[in-house]
Amino acid sequence: MQISENSVVNIHYTLTNDAGNVVDTSDGREALMYLHGHHQIIPGLENALLGKKAGDELNVTIAPEDAYGARVEEAIQQVPREVFGNIPDLAVGMQLHGESPEGPMSVVVTAIADDFVTVDANHPLAGETLHFAVKVESVREATTEELDHGHAHGGDGHHH
Ligand code: ZN
Repeated sequence: MQISENSVVNIHYTLTNDAGNVVDTSDGREALMYLHGHHQIIPGLENALLGKKAGDELNVTIAPEDAYGARVEEAIQQVPREVFGNIPDLAVGMQLHGESPEGPMSVVVTAIADDFVTVDANHPLAGETLHFAVKVESVREATTEELDHGHAHGGDGHHH
């Protein structure tokens, strides 16, 4: 069957950035399972998979607006250093997780000065053109329960 709205899809993928570096891959792991049409993967990839079937392989180039969006300057902020007083080994490149009024967020420390720490809340892949090599492993219809939950369930008896 072809991938359509409410298909449960298993894919193997390798994600490469414009510089040709592998950013993420399902190689050596279980295939990625998702429920098609529910925005669980980036829009550019979901669109490219529509109509594909098990065994299909595709290479997709996805612009930032169909992936993780553009980088925004407002997401880069200077925070008083004392806010991080309880983090003993604070370092440039460190990823920090916290809560914002809009929900969970993560930031990367990009600079540390005497009084201020600069953090960047942009998604690490924001502004990047992404290159996916994808193989469709399987396609099936979602069960009623999966549609109720809005996500796919594994084959090993997943319960809530
Ligand atoms: Zn569930």
